[in-house]
Order: sequence, then C-alpha cells, then structure tokens
Amino acid sequence: MILEAKNITHFYGNEKALDDVSIFIKTGEFVAIVGKSGSGKSTLISILATLLKPTNANMTLLNHKSEDIKDIDTFRKENIGFIFQFHYLINYLTVYENITLAVDKIDKNEVTELLKYLEIYELKDKYPYEISGGQRQRVAIARALVNKPKIIFADEPTGNLDSQNSDNVFKLLQKIARENGVSIVVTTHDLDLAKKADTIYEMSDGHISNYN
Ligand code: ADP
Repeated sequence: MILEAKNITHFYGNEKALDDVSIFIKTGEFVAIVGKSGSGKSTLISILATLLKPTNANMTLLNHKSEDIKDIDTFRKENIGFIFQFHYLINYLTVYENITLAVDKIDKNEVTELLKYLEIYELKDKYPYEISGGQRQRVAIARALVNKPKIIFADEPTGNLDSQNSDNVFKLLQKIARENGVSIVVTTHDLDLAKKADTIYEMSDGHISNYN
C-alpha cells in the first residue's frame, strides 16, 4: 500500500464534510473518486494529498504516519505530484519554464523525454495562452510528473475540458499509472471517465463506498 487512510472525519465549522472515510491505495493503482458536487471529493483528495489537515484521521503515506512527517513541504516535493485546478500555469512563462519551475536540478534530456512522452515537445517554447485547453492540461500533467512522484493527485482535472479532451486526459493518466507504476488518485463527477480507472469509489454526503 502506498496510502492507507482510515476513519477520516472532517468538519468545516459545524458542518461535517467527511464522515468516517477510509481508503487504501496500492502502488501503481489508478483510483477514481466519483460523486456529485458537494459530496466531499475535493475535501477528501486535499486531505489525502496533505494539503488540508483533517479534523480526525489515521493516515500512512509511503510508510510514514502523517503526524510523524516533520518537513511536509519537502516530503510533498519528493513524493507527490499535483494536478489541481487552482494550480494554474503561469502565463508569462513558456511551457518548458512552467514545467521546470519547481525543479532543483534540471536534466534537459529527461525533460525532453517527458515532453515527447506526453506529446507536447513541439509546444515547449509557446506560452500557455497560445495553446489549447487540452494541451494546457497535458502541460499540467508534465509539471506533476517532472519530479518523478510516487503518487499523483488530480482534483477534477477535466473540469474545464470538452469530452474528447477529457477522454484523452484519462487515457493518459491510465497510461502513466500502467507504464510507470505511479499511483494516481483522481476526482471526477463523470462516471464514464471514472471507468478508465482500476478502482472506483463513490462519495455521497461525506460517505465513501465501492462502486460496482
Ligand atoms: P465536492 O468536491 O464533491 O464538490 P467538497 O469537498 O468541495 O465536495 O465539499 C463537501 C462539503 O463541504 C460541501 O457541503 C461544501 O459546501 C463544504 N465545504 C467545502 N469546502 C468548504 C470550506 N472551505 N468551508 C466551508 N464548507 C466547505
């Protein structure tokens, strides 16, 4: 298991957003969390990704108990990739610069390989406003992958995309999990997209269940 999260409960003020949620994620597993707006997907993925501290939980990430992780920023940088809607690309930096912004030691050959793998090499010198929404999301995926994370969290990565581009993003995430052994956790309200994942969970009113 790369991630074991047991009995997560989360309150916003008096409102219970998550009620005793447990989820286990294996190495290389592609997991989709589906559910209607307001069901708790975003709260859950933010907690799993260590971006939000839960009211109550028992979490082990890469064999570290979350409360024992001293330097959470370094831990995140070394192990976790993010594709979150609020992590926008920076418009005055090129695609290449956006992808390598948070990389300490850039290995140009490796970045080139990654860009080719994601079929965005030809876009490397363009600016985000010069490329399409689908291409921008592939750039965000490249940025999430460039530090070779062990697990990637993607919160509604296709929220702003049409169905063809959404389909392509999910196919790409599926390929990344299969070919690189990276675990991927993605939230979506679209069940058809979620069906590309190895495992589907359904959120409803702060509760989680297996989708069959
Ligand atoms: P989803 O991602 O499925 O749309 P969320 O996790 O965003 O669901 O929301 C779950 C519940 O928690 C909703 O009732 C929402 O209104 C509430 N909520 C989410 N974020 C906040 C916040 N920052 N402050 C207060 N309530 C919130």
